[in-house]
Amino acid sequence: MRVIIIGGGIGGLTTAIALSRALPDSTKIDVYERVPVLLPIGAAISVWSNGVKVLKHLGLGDAIEAAAGDMQRMAYKTKDGKDLCDFSLQPLYEKVGQRACPIARTHLQRILLEGATQSCTNVTVHLDKAAASFTQSATSVTITFSDGASETAHLLIIAEGTHSKLRNTVIGRPVQRSYVGYVNYNGAVPITPALSDSPTTWTQYVGDGKRVSMMPMGDGHKFYFFFDVSMPAGSVASHPDTYKNELAAYFAGWADPVQNLIKTLDPAKVARVEIHDIEELTTFVNGRVALLGDAAHGTAPDLGQGGCQAMEDAWVLAQALKNHPGDHSAAYAEYDKLRVERTVQLVSRARKRAEMIHGKDMAVTMAWYEELARESGEGIMDGMSKTILGAPAGLDSAVEPLKKEGLM
Ligand SMILES: Cc1cc2nc3c(=O)[nH]c(=O)nc-3n(C[C@H](O)[C@H](O)[C@H](O)COP(=O)(O)OP(=O)(O)OC[C@H]3O[C@@H](n4cnc5c(N)ncnc54)[C@H](O)[C@@H]3O)c2cc1C
Repeated sequence: MRVIIIGGGIGGLTTAIALSRALPDSTKIDVYERVPVLLPIGAAISVWSNGVKVLKHLGLGDAIEAAAGDMQRMAYKTKDGKDLCDFSLQPLYEKVGQRACPIARTHLQRILLEGATQSCTNVTVHLDKAAASFTQSATSVTITFSDGASETAHLLIIAEGTHSKLRNTVIGRPVQRSYVGYVNYNGAVPITPALSDSPTTWTQYVGDGKRVSMMPMGDGHKFYFFFDVSMPAGSVASHPDTYKNELAAYFAGWADPVQNLIKTLDPAKVARVEIHDIEELTTFVNGRVALLGDAAHGTAPDLGQGGCQAMEDAWVLAQALKNHPGDHSAAYAEYDKLRVERTVQLVSRARKRAEMIHGKDMAVTMAWYEELARESGEGIMDGMSKTILGAPAGLDSAVEPLKKEGLM
């Protein structure tokens, strides 16, 4: 069997590894990625416990744990630096059986790329190859690339991210992406006492419907930071030269660590992202083609679950194909059943949370600030554990021995 995966991001590479682990060695897996060099977009990502569990099943647990930051506590503060709540994440980690791994995107990408190319003999990653369209018949699917070349396979997995163009062909109509109402500026800075006296705490400053976050991400003792600012749709994208001035204006009068962060950051290395999600889909599959990751369920990052859900997709799809050898229709039906409802609910919850955090209705946002002031940590961790433990059954089973040698 030959499987083609479009997109060498988190979803595409995790899928390649998961398929290689689950399916017979004779399966040929080709990943086609449009960029000539895989460079991460954004500084870091928090791989929550459900995502880490997938990577552990794929033999990448040690690598991710070694490269991740040490995030032990979580704190919310007011914009002028007063504590709202501050609690240990240990009870969450104990309840879900795995710590979170906030990690530099470069390291995650390296781990996934090495996993796909060095330890999976039946995976080939082709760079600088952009997919343009596909057609399918009862027996095969053919993908055509922007350079005019084409390839034929038994199955096609589309993991080309939130801007996916091929998605419209899968669904049979244009799929809408919608602005969630805010812009996120993110990057990485060395941890210093001027930013925080607790390098293992994920600290978030909130006020006026805005947010500043600093999360330990490893990579030589750094914080992954972001600033969220509500802006109307169609705001003009600014240039890195003006980021410091913009942030200084948006966060004027906020606490000293926030001012220090603005002074410290390197604007040339800041990513400015207008946050979007995609409309609810009722299926991710069509014939021999399946959508995966952000192409299927692009989400606001307010639950920190987009990448983790792409990892869950990869694991579920591989297990489904393993469970139904020679019957891709049954496998895809299982994939749809296990993935559509869970991810659609998370996209909807992330949007509601984004609106609450970013002042869509300031009364709701103010009520959230008051709730944070009463929080012991239990309520927040209860919500997080429900999200994590909502992962597909089986993810918590003992990690199966991997068939490829040298991975455990
Ligand atoms: C600000 C921000 C913060 C986030 N924080 C978190 C977090 O803390 N935790 C978390 O789990 N998630 C987080 N996410 C979400 C996460 O980044 C995404 O869900 C994840 O990257 C999706 O992976 P993907 O592989 O589906 O898509 P992508 O990572 O977008 O990868 C798609 C790949 O496909 C390639 N491609 C596109 N079109 C084509 C084509 N036609 N042909 C060939 N290749 C193509 C692209 O070049 C890209 O490499 C965050 C997102 C944002 C914006």
